[in-house]
Amino acid sequence: MSVEDRITLAKVIYNRFGDELKSRYNEILRKLDEAIDETWRYMRSTGITEICKQCALETGSCCRRWVEDLYDEIILVINLLLGVEFPKERFKEELCFFCGKNGCMLRAREGTCVTYLCDRIDVDRTEFNKVCSLELGYLSLLKVKIRRFIDQRVPRSSSP
Ligand code: SF4
Ligand code: SF4
Repeated sequence: MSVEDRITLAKVIYNRFGDELKSRYNEILRKLDEAIDETWRYMRSTGITEICKQCALETGSCCRRWVEDLYDEIILVINLLLGVEFPKERFKEELCFFCGKNGCMLRAREGTCVTYLCDRIDVDRTEFNKVCSLELGYLSLLKVKIRRFIDQRVPRSSSP
């Protein structure tokens, strides 16, 4: 399924079940949102954000196109629940669909995106991974719950 099709599917699920998902999983969504803020705070305070911003200006970005295929409809629904608006079209042909002119347009991101640091970035990897693990833990919990919620209501072979 193309990324555009996965986005469409996520929107269909969100339009049908979004209110119920929000009220059922409000607490985990709130904790995930706070944990994401914490990761970004750490990245700003250690200078990672600035290094990546400069690098993106010089080289384009390390957000390559293949990464978008790690994003299924469930994590895209989670992004909708967190208020994300997806890009309408691809910003650059060689880049991930979710990469806009100011960087990633998602809020909930897969582990590959959250924890990737190239060797231009000199921070304590253990400490960084510890900070990221909170966000990734809540994300993983929410993915399991939402997948189960959807599967109980919509058989996988049919569309919502
Ligand atoms: S992780 Fe490395 S390659 Fe990717 S944007 Fe940051 S500095 Fe650039
Ligand atoms: S960080 Fe965002 S834009 Fe970059 S590869 Fe991951 S999902 Fe795509």
